[in-house]
Amino acid sequence: MTFSTTSPLSADKSARLAEKLDALLKQERLDLGEKDARYLERLVSTQRLLALVGRVLIAACYFSLWFLVPGVLCLALAKIIDNMEIGHNVLHGQYDFIRHPYLNSNQFEWDIACDAKSWQRTHNFEHHTYTNIIGQDRDYGYGLLRLSNDYRWRLQNSWQLVTYFLLSSLFQWGVSYHELAAQRVFFGRKKADRHSQVSDSELKKAFFGKGARQLFKDYLLFPLLCWPVFGYVLLANLCANFIRNWWTATVIFCGHFTENAQVFYPEDCENETRGQWYYRQILGSSNFTGSKLLHILTGHLSCQIEHHLFPDLPAWRYRHLAPQVQAIANEFGIPYNTNSFLRQYLTVLVRIARHSFPSKPLKAAEIRSDL
Ligand SMILES: [Zn+2]
Repeated sequence: MTFSTTSPLSADKSARLAEKLDALLKQERLDLGEKDARYLERLVSTQRLLALVGRVLIAACYFSLWFLVPGVLCLALAKIIDNMEIGHNVLHGQYDFIRHPYLNSNQFEWDIACDAKSWQRTHNFEHHTYTNIIGQDRDYGYGLLRLSNDYRWRLQNSWQLVTYFLLSSLFQWGVSYHELAAQRVFFGRKKADRHSQVSDSELKKAFFGKGARQLFKDYLLFPLLCWPVFGYVLLANLCANFIRNWWTATVIFCGHFTENAQVFYPEDCENETRGQWYYRQILGSSNFTGSKLLHILTGHLSCQIEHHLFPDLPAWRYRHLAPQVQAIANEFGIPYNTNSFLRQYLTVLVRIARHSFPSKPLKAAEIRSDL
C-alpha cells in the first residue's frame, strides 16, 4: 500500500486534523512536570541496579555457572532500557525541560556502538521529518532491504531475509555504520542533494572512537576485571549485546515496516501542511499492543504512531494518548495500524520475504535504485 492508494486529505479535513492533534499536544504539554522527572529518575535507578546485578551475577560464575544465564538476562534488560526507554527518548530531548545535568539531549551518551550525536543528526531530523518518503528517509530499509516495489529489485534482495536476521544480530553496528552515512564516508558515493553538517573525518572519528570504546569496555575491561572467568564474562557480554540488538531491531521494524505501513513519494509531500504531515506520520507508522512492561522495554516505540506525531513528549505518556489518537483517526477515517506484537512481527517477515522476489514497480517512473 502506498500513499497513492490512500487518498490525500482534503484541505479542510487536514486543517481540522491538525487542530485536534495540536489540542491534544497542548493539553499534554500543560501537564509536564514533576511526575516526568520522577519517572525518569526511577527508570535510571532501575536500569543501573539491573546492570550492577547482572555484572555481579556474571562474575559469580567463578563459583557456579548457574549464575551466568540470569546474569546475562539482567545485563541484557539493563542494556535494552538504556537503549530504548532512556537513550532514544532522552536523546530526542523529551526530558530536556527538567534540566537534568546529564539526562538531556546534549550530554547523554548511551551504551551502544553508535555515538549519540551522529544518531541524533539523522534520526531526529531526517527520519522524523521524512518518515517513509522514498529516497529521503534513509532509515527505510537501511539501504540494505527492499521493502517496497518502489525500489529496483537486485540479486542481493533474494537473500534479504538472511540479511535482515544478520542486521538484527549486529544491529548496534548496523545503526552506527548507517547513521554515519557510511556509503559516503567510506565509498565516496555522495548524493548530490544531500549535505552533511559535519565533515567525513569527524564522522569517521566518531564511528571508530565510539566503536572502539564499546569493544574495549565489553570485551576487554569487564572480562579483565574478572580475570579467572575472562572467557565467560566476554561471552556473557556478547550474549547481552546480541539480545539487545535483536530486541531493538524487532521493535523498530514493527514500528515502520509492517504490512500496512505506507510509503510516500517526495512530490506528494511538497508544501505539506501540518495536518498533512500528521496524516503521513499516522499512515507510515504502526503500533503494537502489550503489557506495561512490554511498552517500557520498547521505549514506548510500541506506540510508534504517537511517537511520530509527538516526538518531543516524554514517551511514557504515549500509552494513555494512544486511545485518544486512535479515536481521532477513526473520526477522520484514517487507518490506524495496530495489532499484537507477534502479528506485527509476522507481517514484517512477510513483507521482507515478499519483496525478495522480483516484482513490477508500483509507479514505474518513480522507481528508485538506491537510497
Ligand atoms: Zn524517534
